[in-house]
Amino acid sequence: MSTWDRFMQAIEGGNPAEALRISEQELPPEQKPVAQTVLTEAKKKRKPRIEIAAVMAAVERDDGTGFCITCGEEQGGCEPDARRVECDSCGEKKVYGAEELLFRIA
Ligand SMILES: [Zn+2]
Repeated sequence: MSTWDRFMQAIEGGNPAEALRISEQELPPEQKPVAQTVLTEAKKKRKPRIEIAAVMAAVERDDGTGFCITCGEEQGGCEPDARRVECDSCGEKKVYGAEELLFRIA
């Protein structure tokens, strides 16, 4: 299987972290720009999977973790009651602080 195939398999298998690793470490330079686009598109399409347990853990840690409700990424440096902060990952203003989000999804 080619590196590109493994990259696509990671994307389709819902494993963007692995896909990102392959794109950064293994893909030849000429394939990287395409890989970047595929990754960005995959991120947009992926349904955010924010688990209540993860949000509750963040509330308990009280370490300023926020969650993006568009892409599901966690983001540091968020006030617990933050709302509509810009997401570093997808660029949408959909990051909510852990406590704020807990009110909304619990
Ligand atoms: Zn996001």
